[in-house]
Amino acid sequence: MPLSQEKIEVFQTCEEMLHFSHKTRAAGKKIGFVPTMGALHDGHLSLVRQSQSDTDLTVVSIYVNPTQFAPEEDLSKYPRPFERDLELLQELGVTHVFAPSDDVMYPKMTVESETGYGGTLVHPPEVAKSFEGQRRPTHFQGVATIVLKLFNAVQPDIAYFGQKDFQQTLVVEQMVKDLNLPVKIQVCPIVREESGLALSSRNVYLSDSDKTQALAISQCLHEAENMIRAGQTRREVIENKMQAILQAADIQNIDYATVACAQTLGQPDEIKTPAVCLVAAYVGNTRLIDNIVIEKLT
Ligand code: AMP
Repeated sequence: MPLSQEKIEVFQTCEEMLHFSHKTRAAGKKIGFVPTMGALHDGHLSLVRQSQSDTDLTVVSIYVNPTQFAPEEDLSKYPRPFERDLELLQELGVTHVFAPSDDVMYPKMTVESETGYGGTLVHPPEVAKSFEGQRRPTHFQGVATIVLKLFNAVQPDIAYFGQKDFQQTLVVEQMVKDLNLPVKIQVCPIVREESGLALSSRNVYLSDSDKTQALAISQCLHEAENMIRAGQTRREVIENKMQAILQAADIQNIDYATVACAQTLGQPDEIKTPAVCLVAAYVGNTRLIDNIVIEKLT
């Protein structure tokens, strides 16, 4: 694809962003929106491409949202290669980026509170409670809050999210329904390395041997999928197999390796489709998540 000649316009305040969105929508153009925390890879870029093929104008946000990180997590060391991100987006022909500062998004952040932010937060729906929500209790509150704030600034017609963060897509879809937000949510497939490893901004933390070890994550998901497609319905049997594959690769620190209903994340003993196989585990000090969705088997 040729390098776009058009320079990217970077909006830093909600007012600038909103002004542009109003103008764009008034001109009858459909806005696609890809929210990211930067450190862009082909997974992010696949969302951008999808948006570009569906809509008239794509806005990408780059913002490392502090309220979705717990105090012991990697907020300060999260990769922020901003100039390179802009170059990648420019190569794709993206013309508009929203990159606000913390002061813009959370102006009251200096107020003492549990999250370090004294302002309004979105209480996430029930589907946020298990899995990521159980291990990272304030995570989805932070996600829902920033997604709503970004939607309000960008005013998109369609917003693009990756299946990579499967539970996040359920939380956002439910929030959109519950709060009557006028935006369509489009979930896009997981982009993987040839080896099967799901692309993630956090993969930069992995050494070569970590990467080899991490392959067991996608392998155990594939095995779980095969078992379900072959007719296995007992959750315990599937989980045991997943755990065994991870442990054989010496992945010891497993938050969950399991299967759930893909609509509710409920976990009956007998699994029905659509189902989602989910893993969160540490490889070295890096926490990786991945999943496979098995649509309804006929
Ligand atoms: P992040 O920058 O990690 O917040 O991710 C921004 C968006 O990119 C989210 O909707 C993610 O689910 C999506 N994403 C991250 N990794 C991948 C991947 N490997 N394939 C597809 N989408 C992804």
